[in-house]
Amino acid sequence: MPKVDATTFNLILSTLSHPVRVQIVKMLSSKGSASFTSMMNGLNLNSSGRLSYHLKRLIKSGLTVQDQETGRYVLTEAGKILASIIEPIEDLSKHKHTRPPLVRTSELQLEPFNKDKIINDLKRETGMPSRIANEVASEVERKIMNMKIDYLTGPLIREIVVSTLLEKRFEDFRHKFTRLGMPYADAANLIEGPLKAPVSSPLHIQKRAAEALLEEYTLLSERTIGDAHISGAINLSHVHDWLLKLNTIRHDIRVFLVSAPESLPLQFSARKPQSLAEALRLLLNLITAAEAYLTSDQCIDYFNVFLAPYAKGLKYEEVKNLLREFIYTLNLNFEFKGFIPSVTINLELGIPNNLSNIPITLNGRGDAYAAFADEAELITEALLDVVMEGDILGRPFLSPSIVVKVRDDPLKLKQVYPVVEKIHQIAATWGIIAFANLTLPWQIGNVNYDAHFIRLDSKWHDDWELDSLRTGNIGEVAINVPRIAYEAKGSDDTLFTLLIHSLNAAIDALIVKQRRLLNKAKEGAFPLLCFNVAGKPYFNFESGSYNITLVGLPEAIKAHTGYFLHEDSSSLALAVKLVKLAASTIDERAKDAGVRFSLAQTVTEDPSTRFAIADSKRYPDKIRVYQGTPSNPYYTLSAPVPAAAQIPLKKRIRIEEALHKFSTGGHALHVWLNEPPPPPATLIRYTKKLCESNVGAFSYSRDLTYCPSCRKTYGGVKKRCLQCGSLPSSLTYYAREITTYKPLDYWSPAAKHEFKMRARYIL
Ligand SMILES: [Zn+2]
Repeated sequence: MPKVDATTFNLILSTLSHPVRVQIVKMLSSKGSASFTSMMNGLNLNSSGRLSYHLKRLIKSGLTVQDQETGRYVLTEAGKILASIIEPIEDLSKHKHTRPPLVRTSELQLEPFNKDKIINDLKRETGMPSRIANEVASEVERKIMNMKIDYLTGPLIREIVVSTLLEKRFEDFRHKFTRLGMPYADAANLIEGPLKAPVSSPLHIQKRAAEALLEEYTLLSERTIGDAHISGAINLSHVHDWLLKLNTIRHDIRVFLVSAPESLPLQFSARKPQSLAEALRLLLNLITAAEAYLTSDQCIDYFNVFLAPYAKGLKYEEVKNLLREFIYTLNLNFEFKGFIPSVTINLELGIPNNLSNIPITLNGRGDAYAAFADEAELITEALLDVVMEGDILGRPFLSPSIVVKVRDDPLKLKQVYPVVEKIHQIAATWGIIAFANLTLPWQIGNVNYDAHFIRLDSKWHDDWELDSLRTGNIGEVAINVPRIAYEAKGSDDTLFTLLIHSLNAAIDALIVKQRRLLNKAKEGAFPLLCFNVAGKPYFNFESGSYNITLVGLPEAIKAHTGYFLHEDSSSLALAVKLVKLAASTIDERAKDAGVRFSLAQTVTEDPSTRFAIADSKRYPDKIRVYQGTPSNPYYTLSAPVPAAAQIPLKKRIRIEEALHKFSTGGHALHVWLNEPPPPPATLIRYTKKLCESNVGAFSYSRDLTYCPSCRKTYGGVKKRCLQCGSLPSSLTYYAREITTYKPLDYWSPAAKHEFKMRARYIL
């Protein structure tokens, strides 16, 4: 701008103090030049004297000149500069007087925009000091006023605030001010979109919408572990329930059976059960109530022993009818909820030593459990006979999962041969049954397994009642081991260092879960877990276990050494070293923290696809090792050898048994049976052999094909019904998905691929 002295400057300002003169400057600016007449018309003035007067003032202050040749008026340099700033200034002053837009609030009301609300929200939600909050809110107000809109919504204002915080680099405040929820299209897809698996009720749709929000909240509220989860380095199992639920529980059903109903947090029964029928009904009520607290399994240990006193004096048929009702209800529940969560029953072959002398009083008569050995066997036999029959439609019972505990000398099997034969008949017909090998020296005290083969022993306090009952697995984190191998670039030292780093990250995440859940418990959020049993809460939080699982161990070893661990002895040695290191690191942290951290081979949630996909975006094809296809990759989930590896069963057993004792949080060897299945006698021989190995838990799994038209189940995967010729689209396939039996329709794409590739054995 040309330099002007103070007098001229004052003259300019006073010249512009009249709206007509401002109008003239604006007109000359937009048209370039104008004649006296066109100005008279354009400005709508009715007196030429007034226009002459205003033009003279403009010329005198040096903003306008008259072209001598044409007689038209034009702006001087100074006039042009002033014209360029008049409009923005006018805009500002104009908006000051404009009505603020209306805002649709979260309470679904319309009210005028008010920046004080932003100030209050910023202070309340982020702890921002008033001065800064005021600054940010004023900036947001200016932006909104400039938009010249009549109407906007609360979420939109929040987005503007968030972007303003971002511009001003207030990262922490921005994080706390983030709105949870998803884009409209995502919500529409969740609620209206195609179902990934069949559903039995609208509850599934409601649940997945709620879970999406809970997951988002969890990952934001704990940012460091949230970031590790999102990046695919670790997996917080059931992340949507991470801050609210336990993973699994082991009930001590004695507490519910013998307590007066009024001392329980919920009225499971009208009176203390006095018959097997009342006891089983109470158990069903307990299972239904406990589901709300769990992401995964509930397990009833000593099922046949603890119920034995109630079977006293009953005939076999009576017991069988009652158990049939019980199993039907469990199955209905299981199917209705989409085959999660599962219920597991642990059965004893005889009365175990630790229970023999424990007294039980029923209907006024007192005795010890040892006196009820016959009734315990009666319950086992009746239960097995119900399971063997299948349901009224000819389908297998998928709930409860049954784990048979083999204790002491495996030869003891001879004494209970009829029961043992029934068990193996079911295994050869339906699969389904699993075995816990408690004959091993490292299976300390009472040990139980649930449907996902999550394991609890009695080592933590050296007390079976504290450690294996009335507690459970509280949380589970899986580690993406192949990623560690990719990052190690062939160096063993780096591999071990990165493994320890990941284990610590997993443990830190579990500590967060522990802290948050204990707080919830203190607040009274878990009445069923915390009701008073002889001075202690029902659920023993101090004995609750926290599992860390190594996912993709086979792929990691191959990426690191060039061989799967079943292909090369030094690769196997490295895998054992890695697992031992993980176990000892976890043990140390457990001792330091006084928290029951355990290494586990099995998981209750499958992150293998998520890990493999995350890695496919980070690492080049040539260094990655995965199962499946490039578009559907996954890692081996719960085993040291991929299911697809065509190796002799003996070799599979040898590798598994080298690792089970380190994975105290859970493990299982699955023997996938080929058709035709072996006769029960052959299977019994195998069970004995496996009980002599170092394998801690194992199952036989048979694939099943069900035809709804014929109400008939066949062994193996059939391409059509052998009776009516129905094609696969109208058949249902049942098999063990990694650990539990489910219809194939409910399986993940990775599990379906693995199912096709599985090495199946003829025994
Ligand atoms: Zn058929």
